Amino acid sequence: MKESTVQRESTKGAYIHPYEMALEQLDQAAGLLDLSPGIYQMLRRCKRELIVHFPVRMADNSLRTFTGYRVQHNVTRGPGKGGIRYHPDVDLDEIRALAMWMTWKCAVVDIPFGGAKGGVVCNPKKMSEGELERLTRRYTTEISPFLGPAADIPAPDVYTNPQTMAWIMDTYSMHVGYTVPAVVTGKPLSVGGSAGREDATGRGCVVAIQEAAEHWGMRLPEARVAVQGFGNAGAVTAHYLSQAGAKVIAVSDSSGAIHNPRGFDVARLRAHKAETGSVVGFPDSESIPPGDLLELECEVLVPAALEGQIVRENAPRIKARIVAEAANGPTTPAADRILAENGVVVLPDILANAGGVVVSYLEWVQCIQKFSWSEQQVFQSLEGFMSKAFHSVYSIAQERKVEMRTAALILGVSRVAEATRTRGIYP
Ligand code: NAD
Repeated sequence: MKESTVQRESTKGAYIHPYEMALEQLDQAAGLLDLSPGIYQMLRRCKRELIVHFPVRMADNSLRTFTGYRVQHNVTRGPGKGGIRYHPDVDLDEIRALAMWMTWKCAVVDIPFGGAKGGVVCNPKKMSEGELERLTRRYTTEISPFLGPAADIPAPDVYTNPQTMAWIMDTYSMHVGYTVPAVVTGKPLSVGGSAGREDATGRGCVVAIQEAAEHWGMRLPEARVAVQGFGNAGAVTAHYLSQAGAKVIAVSDSSGAIHNPRGFDVARLRAHKAETGSVVGFPDSESIPPGDLLELECEVLVPAALEGQIVRENAPRIKARIVAEAANGPTTPAADRILAENGVVVLPDILANAGGVVVSYLEWVQCIQKFSWSEQQVFQSLEGFMSKAFHSVYSIAQERKVEMRTAALILGVSRVAEATRTRGIYP
């Protein structure tokens, strides 16, 4: 079980796995599309799945064997693209789900990538820097048959960061004998990273929220915001929302949740988290049960932690007008239906958090061209991609009278299906 605040569930039983969620979402979109049975069957399966078991020398000189995965769901529109997650609960089905969502996401924002994802079952919080470096280098080596700037390009995800990406780049480069910055994105600037990449997911999420606020008649400067998960995606989203005048009244991380109805100073809160490792204990805040954060009176709720947080059981109590999914898969299909009935607008993960992969794409382009753009150029381009994707999804939602998630899936799945039909089936 994940460190979730509530149990995940399915329409059939008490628990739904992210992969079941991803398949149920695909089925829903496929039901509204004129997909041939052959293409539908192809899209339900992941193209390549690699499982690796590998030893790592630990700080006490002992050897430990770890399990890792790299999955490419679909590479019809371009190389596999997707993050690498280090978490004790990683499993193959979770990575499959995340890879499938990457396929639709890249298609929704119309960048020439397919979908992939990777992960290692480990608890990085209990590992030293040296252990994490050795784990990363060995895992990279084990999955290297998949990797390459034209084949499969990893990026950061939960509990991996720019330093992890630098080790991946260096390890891959050592194998081939020359430096290959384009093999991974989300790198530090000093080794071919892009200006703006660290802020990209949160900044893109705020573009989607601003567009939604405009279309659904909500004033962002007066909005109260709750953010679950104060990591890269969540903290940056909170930062840009507060810059836009919104009041961030509650945040959480894996250690707990805090609330202040007057709103937090987000810059000070980020400094507190950097110093102490948690948001908990921030001055002028009240601790609340983590599950309560999702149900607070607020206008915008940003789930930015893990999958399966908004479920059938707590969905009726969600009071936000807009749920912006900075995390991947935070809302189950059963919860989606309840939120829709209650008029809550859900900005789905494959749209709301696509800013990260958009700037990853811009980083990859810069690495290949051996040229770099300013932060202003990157953000301008990011905003262009996000606004265009938002409007495409919104138009489908209006035309077909469906929720934003279904509209985004219709767009993503149909683009991948169209590319498959146009390429034809080999041989
Ligand atoms: P991160 O490691 O930077 O942060 C994760 C945060 O979630 C941490 O603060 C952690 O303490 C918190 N957390 C973990 N379990 C929690 C729980 N049960 N309740 C509340 N908080 C909890 O990871 P990230 O990169 O910000 O990723 C977060 C989510 O955003 C994931 O779903 C990821 O797939 C998605 N995402 C990230 C990016 C990106 O560019 N980083 C892009 C797209 C989507």
